[in-house]
Amino acid sequence: MKAIRVHQFGGPEVLKLEEVPDPKPGAGEVLVRVHAAGVNPVDTYIRAGAYARKPVPPYVPGADAAGIVEAVGAGVTTVTPGARVYVIGAADEWKGTYAGLVVCRPEQVFPLPDRISFAQGTALGVPCATAYRALFQRGHGLPAEIVLVHGASGGVGTAAVQLARARGLTVIGTAGSDRGLQLVREQGAHHVFNHRSPGYTDQIMAATGGRGVDLVIEMAAHINLDNDLALLAQHGRVVVVGNRGRIEIDPRRTMGKEAAIIGMTLFAATPADLKSLHAALGESLANGTLTPVVGREFPLADAARAHEAVMEAGAYGKIVLVP
Ligand code: NAP
Repeated sequence: MKAIRVHQFGGPEVLKLEEVPDPKPGAGEVLVRVHAAGVNPVDTYIRAGAYARKPVPPYVPGADAAGIVEAVGAGVTTVTPGARVYVIGAADEWKGTYAGLVVCRPEQVFPLPDRISFAQGTALGVPCATAYRALFQRGHGLPAEIVLVHGASGGVGTAAVQLARARGLTVIGTAGSDRGLQLVREQGAHHVFNHRSPGYTDQIMAATGGRGVDLVIEMAAHINLDNDLALLAQHGRVVVVGNRGRIEIDPRRTMGKEAAIIGMTLFAATPADLKSLHAALGESLANGTLTPVVGREFPLADAARAHEAVMEAGAYGKIVLVP
């Protein structure tokens, strides 16, 4: 099969398309033919050698994919060959989804409804699961609350807008381009603002009638965290989803409001959390309230271009690789 391999950490050019032997599923494993693989910002941090968890090269990047079950190993009863599925992670984390085939454990494989394309299916494992965990498992968002999805135009943000709107929250979303603002509006946001416009945080506060927001889902905490604290209502929460550096905050901004800053990472989700959130995503796919947005598709051979694209401003849903 063809796979992207990284032999040394570095820029996008270290992503090399190579011919490697087809993997075989061992006992208790599932072999999935990858029809599309999702590109996440974390894939670029790992590739650069800048992430907390580092593989020993060579490794195959990628955690998200959708495709068809090719074969199952002995003892697998919950997944059958021929099934349309999405996957989150691989049995060996460093033999990932940027490949023609990937070996997974059964609990990493979930049914993909017919109405969701393989490309859309690549958004479920990391972006949609992150959005759900941030909104509900960590942020405890409730119907009638106001949520600010700060960075709503990308993979996580578009999913967060859809999921929050379906749960009955009032949704404020931000993007950095006109196209992104239009996309966020189409996903169901009640109000949209450009996070590159001077004074936009004042406009957000005005949209809440001066009350503030109950919950912030934050994609760029290194830029926004201190302003987020100012935007919170009494007992408000900020969930830090994305962060690329350090920031000074005024802790006093948390005191009178009894506000909370809550970290989140999908890697910290327990098996019970994951089971619960994928059940919720499955229901949202079934009832039509969750439909992942695909912005750009690249051939697998162009993984380097996809890694450049995922870090550019002007996000528009998911970036996908097609083997
Ligand atoms: P993405 O598709 O590249 O989207 C990035 C989003 O951040 C876009 O909406 C972008 O808007 C927005 N953004 C850029 N500058 C911003 C600013 N100054 N203020 C607010 N938003 C800004 O990435 P993604 O997959 O949605 O992931 C978003 C972030 O979450 C990344 O940092 C990623 O590493 C992180 N993440 C964390 C977890 C976790 O487990 N904690 C899981 C998945 C992702 P424009 O491009 O329109 O300006």
